[in-house]
This record gives sequence, structure tokens and C-alpha cells, in this order.
Amino acid sequence: MVPPPHNADIETAEISDSSPAAIKPVVAAIESHTESKPEALDLSHHLSIESVIRQKSLLKVSSSYLARDPELLSLAAGLPSPSLFPIEKITATVPIAKHESARNGLWKNDGLLPDTRRELQKEKDSNLKGQSDYDLSGALQYEQGTGAKQLLKFLKEHTEIVHNPQYRDWDCIMSGGNTHAMETVFRMLINPGDYIIVEEFVFPETAEGLKPLRAKMIGIEMDEEGMRSDSLRQLLEAWDETARGGKRPGVLYVVPTGQNPTGATMSVQRRKEIYNLCVMYDLIIIEDDPYYFLQMSDYVPGADPTVVHVPKSNDEFLSTLLPSMLGIDTQGRVLRLDSFSKVAAPGLRCGWITGSDRFIERLLRHNEVGLQFPSGVSMAVLHSMLTEAWGQDGYLDWLVNLRAEYTSRRNALLDAMDKYLPREVCDWVVPSAGMFVWLHVDHTKHPRKDNGIEAVEMELFEAGIDNKVLILPGAWFKVSPEARDVFFRATFASVSAEDMTLAVERFGEVLRKSFGL
Ligand code: PLP
Repeated sequence: MVPPPHNADIETAEISDSSPAAIKPVVAAIESHTESKPEALDLSHHLSIESVIRQKSLLKVSSSYLARDPELLSLAAGLPSPSLFPIEKITATVPIAKHESARNGLWKNDGLLPDTRRELQKEKDSNLKGQSDYDLSGALQYEQGTGAKQLLKFLKEHTEIVHNPQYRDWDCIMSGGNTHAMETVFRMLINPGDYIIVEEFVFPETAEGLKPLRAKMIGIEMDEEGMRSDSLRQLLEAWDETARGGKRPGVLYVVPTGQNPTGATMSVQRRKEIYNLCVMYDLIIIEDDPYYFLQMSDYVPGADPTVVHVPKSNDEFLSTLLPSMLGIDTQGRVLRLDSFSKVAAPGLRCGWITGSDRFIERLLRHNEVGLQFPSGVSMAVLHSMLTEAWGQDGYLDWLVNLRAEYTSRRNALLDAMDKYLPREVCDWVVPSAGMFVWLHVDHTKHPRKDNGIEAVEMELFEAGIDNKVLILPGAWFKVSPEARDVFFRATFASVSAEDMTLAVERFGEVLRKSFGL
């Protein structure tokens, strides 16, 4: 087998016309590698009954006749006339991020600097005027369940550049963000009563999405690298159907980068261990990875928090990113969920799912009767910004800027924690990605420890509110009813450095008072 191009090679090639010279020679390399890649395994035995039953929408079938014969006059589809759409034009002002701006600052006082902006427009007839391949008439019209093909093309190229899937027959479909994507994927893979493996602490919407499906969650113990592979191995090896009252789980849900709530990021080694176990025990992996691009440079205590290492080029940037589970997968057993929520804006409600053709086809059937496709206005704005203003390289420039900004925010929170929190009773791991710091508090040193872990946690939480600081208790995220110790989740995402510092100072006071320090 010809070895796949490494990310570093990919950075030197361009895939779309809008991409910079730096990404050019790779198209040919990718195409030839794609040919030599293996096909995904047929893992359709993992489909839920609900998913297997889904049929193609007959209305969507009718459009295939038009594609075959352009002379057909259609009285078929109930598409409203674009001439009657009330929206004539949309404009969006977006930054023109340059790689260097990550060093010099793209934002000041939480706003974009004026000379970094560019105004984009889409009109109903931008296509006819040759200004775009996706105009407002198209964006406001009914769309295929895959999402707009013009935007999807960009996302597939981006996925190829960044993750370089290791098998041939992969595809992408657009989602309404990762909350929507995970619920859709859960329904594709889980029958009522099935077990599913998750991390010991999860994003609450994950748990709430699984409960109505009557899925039984098993939370695997976590350490500073996230889900522990030794604990996962033990569970899978020792699975006893009779004792458990159900078959071994067929699905593992994981947030490998900047996990919510713990901030943990899996090393390459851990990712491979988890993947290999999933191969060995035939599990599908749902990789929910909204924080992938918020992988940060090292934290240096005491250094100026705003001075952040910025990779010299997008090639270097890509080479610093950990491989995703999708990038490791050779069999088509990973369903990767990407979202624009953390790298653009959550209100866009837009993301995409990558996986083997077989799974993407089932998700398409689901989209046709559910989401249909993300909002056309959102897709139009993203299309303008990504393909007309930025291109692949410009998008990477944006991500470099974003990561630099979040890194300096993380540094400011860690500086405040170093300064104000009593190390005698608490500790934390420096997050290398994401938006969260996970604070561990040693309940055994608390004067009222005999009341139980949760009682101590709630006492601290409520005392925090009384002292005007809101920090979320670990109990809100844990899967098992039993608590291991007291934990809190703090975020550095959207609070100013001054407010973060004040909030941490206040929580330090709470800890000292409550522990009698
Ligand atoms: N998954 C995880 C792990 C998250 O932390 C979040 C956001 O907080 C989401 C999904 C939701 O993302 P989206 O806005 O794309 O639905």
C-alpha cells in the first residue's frame, strides 16, 4: 500500500481553486493515495432497527429525473418560486485573518479590529452575474439532505487536508451542529436497552440525548488524558452478558480533544489504544470533536499570558495537531462530528459528520425527514466566508488566530488559579485544548467530609454563588451516581481576564473559608 500523505505534505498542496499555493501539489497526491486506500468494512450490523427501516424520500427521487433529462418540464416538486422570496440580498462582514495577525492581534477589547474586515454579499442572482456558484436563490430554496453541495465540497477538502481519512469510501453530510449530529448518530446506532460506552464525565446534552433512547451509559474512568484505555480494556474483556443483562456495547462516544467538562486531551498513544480496542471488540466510535482546533501551545507559569507561540506557517500549524480518531481509522468505524459552534459561531447551527459511505447514506435518509439541511442563510454566510473570502488556507489562518486568542485566555485563568486557589486542598491539570479547566478538590480534607462528597461539593457551589462566583459542580456532568471526589468546571472562553481573575479570587476565598484554612 502506498503510504498516505502526512499532514505536513498536505500543507504543501492546494485542493480548491480558492486555496493558496501552499496547499496546491497535494490534490494529485491525495487522488492517487485515495485510489490505493482500502475500502471501509461493512459495519452495517451496527445499524439500529430505526435506521434500517428508513427509506429514500420519494420526493427527492423525483429530482433525479430532472438531472437525467434537462428538457423535462417539471410540475413535480413543490418548490416555492425564488422570485417570491422576500430576501433580496444578505451581507456579512467578516475578518480577513492573516497568519501574522495571530501575533499582532486580530481583536481589541473583544472586537475585531476595523482594518481586518471585509464585506461579503449574496444576491438572488449572484450565480447569473458570475459572482458565486451558490447564490441567494439557491440558499433560500429547498436543498438536498446532504446540505449545500458547494459548501460540502469545501468541508470535504478541509477534512482531507486536516484528517486525511485512511480508507477510500468516506463521505461527509452536513448537520445542525454536534448536538444534532450526536442525537442523529445515536439513533442510527442504538436500539432501546443497548449499552453505550462514554467517559466518566460527559457533556450533559450527551446524557440527555441518550436517556430517551433508553441507552444504558457506562462511564469509563478518566485521567489527565481522558478515557483510560486500561479501564476500557478491563470492561470489554470481562463483559458478562448474563450479569449485565445485555450484550457488549457496540458504540463508544468520546470527546478526544479538550473534553467537556474535564478539558482532557488524549495523547496519540491513548487514541491508538482506544481505537485498537474498538477494532478488537467491534465497536463504532463516535468522535465528538468541537474543540479540535483549540489545541494550544504550552502554558508557562508567570510568563505574560498574552504572549503565545504561533506556528510560523499553516503547514507547521497542521503538523502540531494531534491525529483525530478519524485520521487513525482504517476500517470506517469512526463517525466524526465537526461543528462550527466553537470555531465560528454556535448560532449558525451548522456542522458536518464524516464517516463511511454506508453510514452517511443512512444519515442522509434521517436528514431527509428531520433537519432536512442546515439553515440556508447560515450555509450562505459560511460559503461566502469560507470559499469566497478565505479559501482553505485563509480558514486555517483564522483557526491559528482563534487558537492564539483562546490560549491567552486560558493562560490568564491559570495565572489567576495559581495565585488565588489554595493548593493544599485542590489541584488541576493544565488543559492543552478546549475551553475548560477541571478543578479537583480533595474532600477528605474538608471538615464536613462525613456528610459525603456531594454534600461538600454542593456546599462549595452554593457558597460560591453567595460570594458571587458561578462555577459548575462535577455532579452535573458525571454518569455514575457515585462520586469519586469533588470537581468543578471553569471556563475561560468568554470572560474578560479581569473578570476571570476576580471570579477565581472569590472562589479561593470560598475554599479557604469552607476548609477553615
Ligand atoms: N459536544 C460537546 C462535547 C460540547 O462541549 C458541545 C458544546 O458545548 C457540543 C457538543 C455542542 O456543540 P454544537 O453547538 O455544535 O451543538
